[in-house]
Amino acid sequence: MSRTLIRGGLVITAADEVHADVLVEDEKVVALAAAGSTVAEGWTADTVIDATGKYVIPGGVDAHTHMELPFGGTFASDSFETGTRAAAWGGTTTIVDFAVQSVGESLRAGLDTWHAKAEGNCAVDYAFHMIVSDVNEHSLKEMDLLVDEGVTSFKLFMAYPGVFYSDDGRILRAMQRGAANGGLVMMHAENGIAIDVLVEQALAAGRTDPRYHGEVRRELLEAEATHRAIRLAEVAGAPLYVVHVSAEQAVAELATARDRGLNVFGETCPQYLFLSTDNLAEPDFEGAKYVCSTPLRPKEHQAALWKGLRTNDLQVVSTDHCPFCFVGQKELGRGDFSKIPNGLPGVENRMDLLHQAVVDGQISRRRWIEIACATPARMFGLYPRKGTIAPGADADIVIYDPDAEQVVSAATHHMNVDYSAYEGKRLRGKARTVISRGTVVVDQDRYLGRAGHGRYQTRETCQYLV
Ligand SMILES: [Zn+2]
Repeated sequence: MSRTLIRGGLVITAADEVHADVLVEDEKVVALAAAGSTVAEGWTADTVIDATGKYVIPGGVDAHTHMELPFGGTFASDSFETGTRAAAWGGTTTIVDFAVQSVGESLRAGLDTWHAKAEGNCAVDYAFHMIVSDVNEHSLKEMDLLVDEGVTSFKLFMAYPGVFYSDDGRILRAMQRGAANGGLVMMHAENGIAIDVLVEQALAAGRTDPRYHGEVRRELLEAEATHRAIRLAEVAGAPLYVVHVSAEQAVAELATARDRGLNVFGETCPQYLFLSTDNLAEPDFEGAKYVCSTPLRPKEHQAALWKGLRTNDLQVVSTDHCPFCFVGQKELGRGDFSKIPNGLPGVENRMDLLHQAVVDGQISRRRWIEIACATPARMFGLYPRKGTIAPGADADIVIYDPDAEQVVSAATHHMNVDYSAYEGKRLRGKARTVISRGTVVVDQDRYLGRAGHGRYQTRETCQYLV
């Protein structure tokens, strides 16, 4: 048995901020004791980590990543190996990625494919949601089996006709199944049928630059789809989790539903909190770096997202990490914005960007941990193994220096992508030591982890329902 003792830090969870020493045995947290107490002073360990002046926080849980996702004739540029290593660098110790069912294929076949991509390659722990592209009698039955084996959330798309799209009838059927088996339906809420009309019209009128990607994917079409998804979930008697909420009007739909007492939840992402249509309009095709769906919105929307995070109308910040290199990948859409692969890198930056929001006074320290660690773990059935520091929890712990200064750059990041969406941004705060299930994987700018340390996590059903 190995024992690690983390001494002298401020332990921050979603619930508490306490000066405590943390004792780890093998892969688990076994005890916390008040700093300086006779109990803490009596502890001995093989490894003692001095966290004086630092925060001791749970490892981040990023509940929305797409490593190696096939999209638009290419693949997201981070593999499970490079993407989870970058996650570790940024203080994230669990990812929940999306296995994809292709049309005409079973859920099982898609899940097996994603297991094969990830197994033996991950630096930190990982789990899967299931993208359901083909709702039919067989895949509905398979949903029950997947919930039983720990894949307890299913993503459907109101966007991308002909690829991932499901019509309202299929969505309703999947939601009804989720209501019965405990599976949580996650929704990409944009009216893809209407958007495709606007895309065609924009291209025909010669509006081909990246910024038109944002213009055709209208805020109202996100709000409309969000409203429709909520009503379908209500009819099905099912809970609903809306992914990557970006428009103020969509937040309003969620707030209204929650005021009515529904189990309706929303996630936003750092790109919507820190970037805007100004980035999409950058000249020389640079705007392509910021093409993702839902799209970046005008700056004015950011205030509504921050407010939603404070009032708990939004509960989770995930990255939707889906990187494509500018050279050779984003460039596929030169002269036609609809051919730009959709997605941004971010798995390494999330914890730090949200800490900057603490520094800036947007959210409290405990809310930072809640939206980045605890709630994603609860939402997707990983709590309290993940998302907190408590006796019995996995020892996924970050020693975080709140005073460290850093400048974000592609030159120094660890994601396998040739640009940073936050190039040049100054941030206060940085993960100094990152521990995954009791093993130090990053320490003082050195990577000590290995591919294959990360273990697949089965999940309970949603632990966040009211
Ligand atoms: Zn996504």
